[in-house]
Amino acid sequence: IGLSEKHDFQTETQKILHIVAESLYTEKEVFIRELISNSSDAMEKVKHMQLTSASEIQDPEIPFEVKISTDEDKKTLIIQDSGIGMSREEMIKNLGKIGYSGSKEFLQKLGEQTDKASIIGQFGVGFYSCFMVGHQIKIYTKSAKKGSKGYLWESDGSGSYQISEADGVQRGTKIIIHLKPNAYEYSKKQSVENIIKKYSNFVGFPIYLNGHSVNTIRPLWTMNKNAITAEEHKEFYQFLSKSYDTPTYNIHFSTDSPLSIRSIFYIPSQHMEKYGMGRMEPGVSLFSRRVLIQQKAQGILPDWMRFVRGVVDSEDIPLNVSREHLQDNGLIQRISQVLVKRILKNLDEESKKDPIKFNKFMSEFQGFFKEGIITDFKWKDEISRLLRFESSKSTEDSPCSLDDYVKRMKPDQKQIYFMPATSRNVAETSPYFEPFQLKDVEVIFTYNSLDEFVLTNIGHYGDKKVVSVESKEAEEFLNQNQEKKQDTLSKEQIDGFLSWIQEAVADKLSGASPTQRSISAPAIVVDHESATFRRMMKMMEPNKQ
Ligand code: ADP
Ligand code: MG
Repeated sequence: IGLSEKHDFQTETQKILHIVAESLYTEKEVFIRELISNSSDAMEKVKHMQLTSASEIQDPEIPFEVKISTDEDKKTLIIQDSGIGMSREEMIKNLGKIGYSGSKEFLQKLGEQTDKASIIGQFGVGFYSCFMVGHQIKIYTKSAKKGSKGYLWESDGSGSYQISEADGVQRGTKIIIHLKPNAYEYSKKQSVENIIKKYSNFVGFPIYLNGHSVNTIRPLWTMNKNAITAEEHKEFYQFLSKSYDTPTYNIHFSTDSPLSIRSIFYIPSQHMEKYGMGRMEPGVSLFSRRVLIQQKAQGILPDWMRFVRGVVDSEDIPLNVSREHLQDNGLIQRISQVLVKRILKNLDEESKKDPIKFNKFMSEFQGFFKEGIITDFKWKDEISRLLRFESSKSTEDSPCSLDDYVKRMKPDQKQIYFMPATSRNVAETSPYFEPFQLKDVEVIFTYNSLDEFVLTNIGHYGDKKVVSVESKEAEEFLNQNQEKKQDTLSKEQIDGFLSWIQEAVADKLSGASPTQRSISAPAIVVDHESATFRRMMKMMEPNKQ
């Protein structure tokens, strides 16, 4: 055993060590995730050497794996990998100070901000998290470069560390954590196993805990689309969503630019909100290089897409970005844009591939899409395309899309018409519908105020205005090109009737005029906000006078 040298941590590093160890991670357990991900990174580096400089690798036959062991008697946790390891200089450089992320900038920000937790996440300080739980850390490491020596690095995290040469060190890094009394639970196999499963289940190397493999499920999102069977998708979906049904659709999407994204989404076969089970939580987990950053991540998909289950993995997201920071992270928003667009496009394609399957899916999940129309205006066009409606020319079992409607529009028709009614029967016998039927013009039937509200919100579909049959626009359409019928009443009779009715219901009418609509009813109310719609408006804008 060679000489031992004492080194002080850089002053800044000391401060950070202290902050990290004392207060920053609200969930201490993430230190396991941090160390495993360092191990995984270290082994990826050796794999890279295999491609570029295989002959220089020390002990090339050693398998890539992370070995973790717990010891309740000694109160220790050990994490060992067969990765790139570190030379003496690398240890000083990598573990003695805050590495790549720029410590100056970090401390400056730390001084400026009160919310320290949200900034530390942006910086690579993963390794130091083990001082949250350990009062003594020992690292045995040997660089993967052939001929390297082994070293022992030791510190109690209080300001200095020791480096000495060590014998019998295997290629890679072995970290021994002597646990603080308030962290003894990390010497228990079961606790550690749960944490590994939570954060590191998909790490690309085998993880053994006290000799048994822990991570057995393959990270499908990193694999080639065509290499995954339907059975594997089902298994993975069930694992992710903790449910037992078969997903209706899977959407597997990868891109490298402008952002690196690997993702898989599943549309379940049903949802529970319709049973009044309360609002679902978001169903997508966020990973960075196969390591979990956040389960049920908010903001990666819009709230109305909470029925989607899945995984998003992006190397662009720093591993230890904090929860609070994720919420309003510009990067997450950009990723979200790309993903929402993709999912909506994919569903549109599915609707063309198998309309019957799609209609079934839409009838189950339409409520979410309608919520999307109302709450998330920027996707209005894409969502409108997916919605299905019952109309005078389509049925509940085989509803129509707005595209179908547009295709069937009459040459002189400029607008899309909808009509609120309580049932199909009421709709078909309504005096509002009558003139449209005579002209063979399709009308969408809405049976609840939500649909009416959604169509009103859609407003325009392409260049077609979406209007109610009661609207002024509809009245104009019905009047145009209408051959003037022989009036059965004289002008005096008509005027007399109009002034009578205007007086009789003066407080409810803004005017009365003769119509060219072909209807069998004597009079019809037009251009009024229906009662349900007024109710909706009130509901949406409580402050409006
Ligand atoms: P980051 O992983 O973001 O770089 P960390 O604080 O987690 O920050 O690690 C600091 C550095 O220490 C790493 O970049 C790496 O160079 C080195 N390191 C940490 N753990 C290992 C390991 N298991 N094997 C080799 N090098 C490691
Ligand atoms: Mg790290």
